[in-house]
Amino acid sequence: MENSIPELFGSLVFSDKIMREKLPKDMYKALRKTIDNNTHLELDVANAVAVAMKEWAVENGATHFTHWFQPMTGYTAEKHDSFICPVENGEVIMDFSGKELVKGEPDASSFPSGGIRATFEARGYTAWDPTSPAFIKDKTLYIPTAFCSYSGEALDKKTPLLRSMDAISKEAVKILKLLGKEDVTNVLTTVGPEQEYFLIDKRDYKRRKDLIFTGRTLLGAPAPKGQEMDDHYFGNLKPRVAAYMHELDEELWKLGIPAKTKHNEVAPSQHELAPVFDTTNVAVDHNQLTMEIMKKVAEKHGYMCLLHEKPFAGINGSGKHNNWSLTTNTGENLLNPGKTPADNTQFLIFLSAVIQAVDDYADLLRLSVASAGNDHRLGANEAPPAIISMFLGEELTGVIEAIEKDEYFGKVEKVMMETGAQVLPHFTKDTTDRNRTSPFAFTGNKFEFRSLGSSVSVAGPNIMLNTAVAESLSIFYEQLKDVPKDKLDEAIHKLVKDTIIKHKRVIFNGNGYTQEWVDEAEKRGLFNLKSTPDAMPALIAEKNKKLFAKHHIYSETELESRYEIRIENYTKTIHIEALTLEDMVLKQFAPALMKYIDELTQSALSKKQLGIDPAVSTQTELIKKLSSYYEDVIKATEKLAKDVAAAEAMEADINQAKFYHDTVIADMEEIRKYADQAEPLIPEGYLPYPTYEQMLFYV
Ligand code: ADP
Ligand code: MG
Repeated sequence: MENSIPELFGSLVFSDKIMREKLPKDMYKALRKTIDNNTHLELDVANAVAVAMKEWAVENGATHFTHWFQPMTGYTAEKHDSFICPVENGEVIMDFSGKELVKGEPDASSFPSGGIRATFEARGYTAWDPTSPAFIKDKTLYIPTAFCSYSGEALDKKTPLLRSMDAISKEAVKILKLLGKEDVTNVLTTVGPEQEYFLIDKRDYKRRKDLIFTGRTLLGAPAPKGQEMDDHYFGNLKPRVAAYMHELDEELWKLGIPAKTKHNEVAPSQHELAPVFDTTNVAVDHNQLTMEIMKKVAEKHGYMCLLHEKPFAGINGSGKHNNWSLTTNTGENLLNPGKTPADNTQFLIFLSAVIQAVDDYADLLRLSVASAGNDHRLGANEAPPAIISMFLGEELTGVIEAIEKDEYFGKVEKVMMETGAQVLPHFTKDTTDRNRTSPFAFTGNKFEFRSLGSSVSVAGPNIMLNTAVAESLSIFYEQLKDVPKDKLDEAIHKLVKDTIIKHKRVIFNGNGYTQEWVDEAEKRGLFNLKSTPDAMPALIAEKNKKLFAKHHIYSETELESRYEIRIENYTKTIHIEALTLEDMVLKQFAPALMKYIDELTQSALSKKQLGIDPAVSTQTELIKKLSSYYEDVIKATEKLAKDVAAAEAMEADINQAKFYHDTVIADMEEIRKYADQAEPLIPEGYLPYPTYEQMLFYV
């Protein structure tokens, strides 16, 4: 069994090894050149690749192919065509051309475009992305593609991501050339996304309209036990969960996704999966696939996999940690401080570039993780605050402070870890401790952006990060490019020092969950964009438009359209939540409560006839209490309905989004407040849907 895993791994991927086997040598070389150096692909090469791909796919049972793309819905999209091609005598052959590989024309009119493309101009194109390998899933050959409009605007998440990878590579290579690294021609960003999720029983899921329609519970009193015992985090896996995780790993491995770590998370029924990192583009595709396969395998095991950021109130929601670094084509990690970070000029430049980027474009980083779902987490003591700051850890902060004060920073000895037990192996301490409360933490040789919600595509945050760092590097290059060789060290030292002085306000090593930090951040002038509607305008802020234009990431039209799409997405999400809650209250919760009240009343009346007074008086109290909750819930629901109607009548813009946030969400919380107080008083069996206790503790 063990031995077969290397064979299993990537068995459904049109990998480099297979390309080398199947393609004529010159064609393979030409394709490799395209992949490694982002050069244009010739049609004869595309034709050769198409033939090889089809042969391999058909050998492996595929009958169809699809261009697989990532429109701005947050999901992936696909349209399947079969390979069959009729020939004479009513027979068919399996056929696939270079043209079909390179370009597709899905009807684009039903994908969000934010007004870029009127419906009469419905044409959209998908274009093969040779840097992300094709794979087979459900007997179909999946070809990763970018998606754009007839006039060339990006309609997806992959195109700007690839643009941002180009931008940061270009700027990083220029800096490295200045430092004498002539052999570096390409710098790749790498990403390892840690993915959190919940598993609940499929039967429970099917009975909750809120989970079905919105992905989260809109009502529900807490179970007697939550996560306060800390007994789930890293706890041993129940056999059924273990079986799920095992099959999930295997399915991911077949697709070449290097799933590596899995464990239970903090909340009951919550888990995490982390792959080994990859280049950003591939990591993004793999994370999308991972989320999809997680859901699919769950159903096979009688589970539903919840990827919403906050499926349950009162216990932790789910996030995604975006581990990010920069690697040269010669294999060097540019964020590796080495043994003596203070003496490592190259590291200090890249570190300063990230510090400057995070400070200057904190609003964009914040925006990139903003969503209706994630609003429940950020700043809620389970995820980093909405304020973007950076954690550097003790050693690096020491280095930074020394540079700032012009003190020579001596070599910091690695401290031996003292476990106190002789039998345990001795190992050195990491240069950074963990700070789970920081949104953006240096973790040894990479940064971990921790504010992402569990369901978000990691494309967005990485587009922002890559572009912002590209900008710092570009500014640095301008300052250094004309400095004579013998003055370069000094100039770099000054640049690093000036950058630190200017941007150190964004560095914070303390506890990000406290009110003190919120107050302190305000004094420092940092952004505190509390909700999605607060964060959205950053996308079209003048300074950010300039940034994106300079690095060719988004045109102004593309930005405007994305801004519109995000607003629309937000308001629609809250709108659906509001309607679902109204429905559940009026058709399920309130009738169940009334049924119980009626039964209590009947029983009290009968007791009264028999003259059993004490029971009647406690019962009457309960009836009064429940009746008053009933009234509160119904009144709050009427207010919600009124406000939703008002929201619907508004123009679709940021003010509508704000109204949904300030008024409609507040109405929903009001309903929930009364309903969740009443719920524990209602005996089991009255509510037609499962409670928190049933969903979270019997999985
Ligand atoms: P933790 O829970 O401590 O954050 P994990 O091991 O769960 O750590 O996850 C760390 C993630 O960081 C993994 O996905 C790993 O592959 C990734 N990672 C490690 N090195 C790099 C790097 N240079 N660039 C990007 N990601 C990296
Ligand atoms: Mg982590």
